[in-house]
Amino acid sequence: MKRATPPARRTVASKQKSKPSGRSRRPAKPEARRVAAIIAELHRLYSDAECALSHKSAWELLVATILSAQCTDERVNKVTPGLFDRYPTIADLARAVPRDVEGVIKSTGFFRNKTKNLIGAAKTLSEKFSAAVPRTMDELLELPGVARKTANVLLGTWFKQNDGVVVDTHIGRLSHRLGLTWRSKNDKDAVKIEQDLMEVLPRNEWTFVGHALIWHGRRVCTARKPNCAECSLAKNCPSAFSFGSPPPTRQRKTAIAASTVG
Ligand code: SF4
Repeated sequence: MKRATPPARRTVASKQKSKPSGRSRRPAKPEARRVAAIIAELHRLYSDAECALSHKSAWELLVATILSAQCTDERVNKVTPGLFDRYPTIADLARAVPRDVEGVIKSTGFFRNKTKNLIGAAKTLSEKFSAAVPRTMDELLELPGVARKTANVLLGTWFKQNDGVVVDTHIGRLSHRLGLTWRSKNDKDAVKIEQDLMEVLPRNEWTFVGHALIWHGRRVCTARKPNCAECSLAKNCPSAFSFGSPPPTRQRKTAIAASTVG
């Protein structure tokens, strides 16, 4: 008789490798009051939150955002000044020799593909958009290397248009932990996360909340070690203290409660 195959068991190593998700059950759509409290606290914490990629024009922001895939903003900010010195205009980059561009941007990783996208985007802008970065989602999505995340960065940060919400690795993770997404499968499910954020956040907050969640994800709610004990969003976070971090002291609890709206 054929024996039933036992269910696969997770090894100790795989347990150690997995990042804390902070959520065990599928959540419901968040209450408006809790969302409002989170937004208010983000404004208090990060009132001047801005995009961390250095840029002086829509074109420079587009280039920096393409380079930032799988790379830190700090690294991109070190590379872009040299790139713009060598190729000051869109037309210059459209005519560039790929191998030369690869040499300049190599340290950002995936440099062959990024070079292809940068030169391709410069060519498309030169040929179809009079060498100017367009300001609509549909037009931006025509550019090589540009998906909704990059288009949302351009539209929100440069053109000040809230057409969508940027979902990068920090925003995906924090949206999940804070229970701001309820239809996404996991924190990589950018399409569903963006749809949920667009439904639950007031439109005029889309760009700000994106910037603020990125800052909070870097400073407090990091991927491997969320610092719930020092997080003033804890009162409104369904994942708070679910990662094995020590519970707050009474003094800290009072401070968190006092600094949290709602
Ligand atoms: S309480 Fe703060 S640090 Fe902890 S999971 Fe929630 S948002 Fe992240």
